[in-house]
Amino acid sequence: MSTNSTTAPTHQNYIGGEWRAASDGALDAHHNPARISEVTGHFPRSTDDDVRAAVDAAEAAYPAWRDLSVFARAEYLKRALALMSERIDRVSQVITTENGKTLAESRGEIVSAIKEMEHQIHQGLRDLGEIAPSAQSGVLAYQYRRPLGVCAVISPWNFPFNVPGRKCTPALIAGNTVVLKPASLTPNVGLEFTRLFADTGLPKGVLNCITGSGSGAGESLLNDSRIKAISFTGSTKVGIHINQLAAGRLVRTQLELGGKNPMVVLEDADLDEAASACATAAFACAGQWCTSTSRVIVAKKIAGPFVEAVLAKAQALRLGNGFDPATTMGPVCGTQQMKNILDFIEQGKQEGARLLTGGRRAAGEGLDDGCFIEPTVFSEVNPGMTITQEEIFGPVLSVFTADSFDEAVNIANGVRFGLASSIYTKDLERAMKFLEKTEAGLTHVNMMSAYKEPQLSFGGIKQSGSGIPEAGRTGIEFFTEHKVAYIKYRS
Ligand code: NAD
Repeated sequence: MSTNSTTAPTHQNYIGGEWRAASDGALDAHHNPARISEVTGHFPRSTDDDVRAAVDAAEAAYPAWRDLSVFARAEYLKRALALMSERIDRVSQVITTENGKTLAESRGEIVSAIKEMEHQIHQGLRDLGEIAPSAQSGVLAYQYRRPLGVCAVISPWNFPFNVPGRKCTPALIAGNTVVLKPASLTPNVGLEFTRLFADTGLPKGVLNCITGSGSGAGESLLNDSRIKAISFTGSTKVGIHINQLAAGRLVRTQLELGGKNPMVVLEDADLDEAASACATAAFACAGQWCTSTSRVIVAKKIAGPFVEAVLAKAQALRLGNGFDPATTMGPVCGTQQMKNILDFIEQGKQEGARLLTGGRRAAGEGLDDGCFIEPTVFSEVNPGMTITQEEIFGPVLSVFTADSFDEAVNIANGVRFGLASSIYTKDLERAMKFLEKTEAGLTHVNMMSAYKEPQLSFGGIKQSGSGIPEAGRTGIEFFTEHKVAYIKYRS
């Protein structure tokens, strides 16, 4: 898929049912994170005019799309899902080329997206309002949901297919039109996602996709006064900025943000299961899940064997190009991301954490030209260290030990984030106490921090999220407004 700069393909935006270059022809090159010297493609650096054209198209398409029956809208979306299944091999390759994750992880992302999208389509077909008993006889009282208009979807690079699916499907089934701005590190995944819808014959302008940077095209999209809702997944810093911008116009926002997710392991836990879950949640997708476990808090009594088991799993990971079936951990997503992670690791060492394994950019055959970082585990950490407070978003795990359950919960909650958490224990009472006390939007008992199902909402609390959460029953709620009606049909 990847090639050199002169032969790499040039891609176009999708605006109003047409594939178009940026209005001034400007392009950004994308580099393969597994082989940085290779350019995978050139993408429009969308201008304000391009963004305006995308919103114009979405605005023009809105009335007809809104007025189509929800069943007709669902037919288009179901066809897009069928195309996703048909093209899963090709789209997985695009994800691996741009993001670096293994082909199996890319495939898993698409399968998971299809399930979530199916659920949102079904939800849209059955859940658009409710009838309430009226205080008066002869009065029909009900409330129903109406679409909002043109919605902006801004997505991150770590789940570049799933996140647009999770946001665009409820928006579209509810009757909104969408302008999607994928992350600049994964533009082709955003365009491929859009192509699946375009190829169903979706009416022009219903879904538009513009590529470019966050500070350029992203900011321009947010500033278009015709945008009625902004669904954003990304860093807490950018989320706060978006909220400030949107508040001035009373535009609703759905912000799914960063995490610093804890896993607590008590002395009665099944150690093998807990260690496997910890290693998977810390190192899958090179630690770039928003729900990755980045802090594990272990009861002191079992810390020795638990840490040994996690280290064995970390050291058994095979780094390499995601296209190689033997690879179990791909590169991190790009040189800037690699630098950020290595800087955090350095800071961890300087602040006195003890490096148990990893801690370096990985070198060797097939690795030298890529953004590979060794799976890294620190111990002897404390809550005052930068590596235990900030989201590193890479394959770096910090191991705390705790003398008591209460101490473990305090450490777990002692960060500004609140996305996901988990506890491993066979003690029902302490598990229930953890569920009561944990400050996280998604929590788990004897399951890893990243587990989720499509029928339930997905969203963080504290600085990990704001607004109505995505997916599940609340997926469509964000993209609709309520209207109440009272009808007197008998005097
Ligand atoms: P990011 O905040 O840098 O960028 C996210 C998106 O916002 C990109 O499309 C980017 O181009 C755009 N953007 C950046 N600045 C912008 C601006 N000023 N105006 C408009 N758009 C702008 O995040 P990222 O590095 O792409 O993704 C990683 C982050 O996403 C991590 O913090 C991770 O935890 C988070 N994340 C959260 C969830 C969740 O559900 N909570 C899921 C996945 C990722």
